[in-house]
Amino acid sequence: MTTERTGVYPGSFDPITTGHIDIITRSRRLMDRLIVGVAVNTGKDPLFSFDERMAMLREELADLPDEPGLARIEVRPIEGLLVTFAKTSGASMIVRGLRAVSDFDYEFQMAGMNARMERDIETVFLMASERHTFIASRLVKEVALLGGNFESFVPKRVGLKLADAVARRQARKASAD
Ligand code: ADP
Repeated sequence: MTTERTGVYPGSFDPITTGHIDIITRSRRLMDRLIVGVAVNTGKDPLFSFDERMAMLREELADLPDEPGLARIEVRPIEGLLVTFAKTSGASMIVRGLRAVSDFDYEFQMAGMNARMERDIETVFLMASERHTFIASRLVKEVALLGGNFESFVPKRVGLKLADAVARRQARKASAD
């Protein structure tokens, strides 16, 4: 029997922000293996394709230090039910970040439903760090699409890709008009 503790941190990561990286960095101290699970279907209209979101995560997370006492990181797709993915991956925890009261309702319901479906898997919440409380992928995209400065919300390489994606989307929109 393995005594290794595995957690899953699921999300859309459209795109990965400094807030996500903060949660990943902090949760690595709590387990041996952290699976960052990328939703294949976001249910939203993603700015980045699944492959782009996976590639950005892998690139950014490869820069994090690899030290004893910190979970090793795997980036994997999640399709279907999160608890099923967690169970088949050998995870005992689901990690989520909480930014504000507005996150609470949804997270509370999800954690409750997931606990009912899989009682062996705990949802663990980390409070957003003060510096990242206001950062949400959805708002970062909105700022970018409206021409605002998004540099401090995302890693540098992601910022360049975001600028490209916005230009692509605007070109597509202009040709459709
Ligand atoms: P979702 O699409 O489900 O909101 P995201 O990909 O945006 O998922 O985020 C995944 C997880 O990361 C969620 O638990 C979300 O609350 C958390 N999160 C997102 N941004 C931040 C942030 N700035 N600080 C802390 N947690 C965050």
